Amino acid sequence: MSETAKEEICAFHYHNKSTVQCATCGLPICDLEEGATAEGKQICTICFNSPKASKFRKYIQIGTLLVTLPSVILIFTLVPSENSYQLWAFLALIPLMIGLLIGGNRLLTNMAYKGLGKNQMILPLIRYFEASGNDQFYKIFLKNLKKLSDEELEEIREPLFDYLVPAILFNYSRLSDNWQEDLLKYLKIDEIALAKTFAEDFRTLLINIAVHDAKADLSKFIFYLGEITGNDEIIVDYIKAIASKDIKNLEDDQLKKDYDMLLEELFLYEEIFYSVCDRLNLPKEKEALAALLKRYEPPPVPKSAMDAIKIQRDQVLQMQRQGLVSSKEDFELTDEKEAETDKTTEES
Ligand SMILES: [Zn+2]
Ligand SMILES: [Zn+2]
Repeated sequence: MSETAKEEICAFHYHNKSTVQCATCGLPICDLEEGATAEGKQICTICFNSPKASKFRKYIQIGTLLVTLPSVILIFTLVPSENSYQLWAFLALIPLMIGLLIGGNRLLTNMAYKGLGKNQMILPLIRYFEASGNDQFYKIFLKNLKKLSDEELEEIREPLFDYLVPAILFNYSRLSDNWQEDLLKYLKIDEIALAKTFAEDFRTLLINIAVHDAKADLSKFIFYLGEITGNDEIIVDYIKAIASKDIKNLEDDQLKKDYDMLLEELFLYEEIFYSVCDRLNLPKEKEALAALLKRYEPPPVPKSAMDAIKIQRDQVLQMQRQGLVSSKEDFELTDEKEAETDKTTEES
């Protein structure tokens, strides 16, 4: 297991070396992928299937409309208006629509992943999650992981961690609090083994992300890793990296621009940072952290509900500008959730 091995194997056939990257999504692929662009560049199976699935999506939407509209007209013209018969008829229509949407989306997902075994979808799904930050990919990944047999799991274990660890770290703030639960169950390993993978095999990557590209609560995760593995090295490395000259000597503007999230972590978990420094005998580092914290401006506290909404809206706008929130979802991601949204709009 190494932090660079992931580029060398094919994401779809992890027994094979990758010869080229998919011209569309950039996944490492091998000669077994037969898809190609009009210009003859090799692409992966999912990118090959996607245009067909996208086209089909339109048909499903039109089809749903073609079923719903006549039904509504029929209800208005044929069902008597007394005794709220019409209302009941409308309510009966809702499950039908939901069924159509869910069925349609299943079909689309199947089209996009056509010809791929469940173990062939695992690595691409993780990579799509890493790249997009959309946790629907992570959920579909878990669903597929759950289906693997013990042998298949054993086979894929090593490349899986090479893909999974960066994906989790880069999107740490998007995962639910209990994200480990399902993962441990499906990977059939215990909490300590998973923690060791993060804290030992991927320590450099983990600390690099936590310091230079900090995510909410990643600090807490590092403290937890130290605690559960019974090895403080990761915490020491982390604190030393934060207290390094590179960060300390930055101008205020640059510090705010590049390390605001890290400072927010320091601010939120100040007590833990200080007590860890005391326990591990890092007085100089503790001083450096305190000096950094003095230069941090906490975000404004909303004075009223209107203020809170404004601040939140500004944050969303900023995230959109940075490309962190996409305005439209990809077809692979739609599932029951979308149907639920439709249900609520329907009812209101
Ligand atoms: Zn691709
Ligand atoms: Zn391949």
